[in-house]
Amino acid sequence: MPPTSSNLQIGGLTPLTSTDYPGCLAAVVFCQGCPWRCGYCHNPHLIPRSGESALNWPGVMDFLRRRRGLLDAVVFSGGEPTLQDELPAAIEEASSLGFKIGLHTGGTYPARLGAVLPLLSWVGMDIKAEFADYDRVTGTPASGEKARASAQMLLDSGVAHEFRTTVHPLFHTRESLLRLAEELRGMDARHYVLQEFRPQGCADEAVAAYPAQELLDDALCDRIGAMFDTFSVRRA
Ligand code: SF4
Repeated sequence: MPPTSSNLQIGGLTPLTSTDYPGCLAAVVFCQGCPWRCGYCHNPHLIPRSGESALNWPGVMDFLRRRRGLLDAVVFSGGEPTLQDELPAAIEEASSLGFKIGLHTGGTYPARLGAVLPLLSWVGMDIKAEFADYDRVTGTPASGEKARASAQMLLDSGVAHEFRTTVHPLFHTRESLLRLAEELRGMDARHYVLQEFRPQGCADEAVAAYPAQELLDDALCDRIGAMFDTFSVRRA
């Protein structure tokens, strides 16, 4: 058995999904740790980089070896995968088994994202809000500047990707969503998804219990959809 060099801290593993990497059957590796504090986070158990988990990276690699020929791709998700220095080595190890590699990121660390982009076949990047309004969602100063830099880097890289925004009425209005879409289009983004907030897993009771409001009506979706080559809405 080849040595495994990465000590990536793992918070969970989804063994098979068809929805986390477009067009591919994938396993999703959930990485531990995230520096942001989004009120609507549905993986709050992954935010502390506790390292306490029944799973470890060598165990994930054992699993992936048994799935060669059965899966197309491995997606690194989180938490924020680029938080960990061990990510590039883990990506290279998974890639050496022949899998395509996907990444879910908030763009928290532009330089680290830039370092792994050449190793990736697809990226799903969360766009939280208008970049000037990021801190209200992430609870973290200057987070919008980092996300904007990462989004631009992703666009410049040519790596296949989608930008997606989780919509919650405490953080967005129809007007702010329209302005955000215009901001992305102004950066030459072509692929955009709006996804309705799902309360499952959300630890903030006020956010989870907030009465559902239908922000994503047909008129708004038509206007936003017309700005992009591909656009879709993921309903809750
Ligand atoms: S960036 Fe993602 S993982 Fe981190 S707090 Fe926000 S929603 Fe949760």
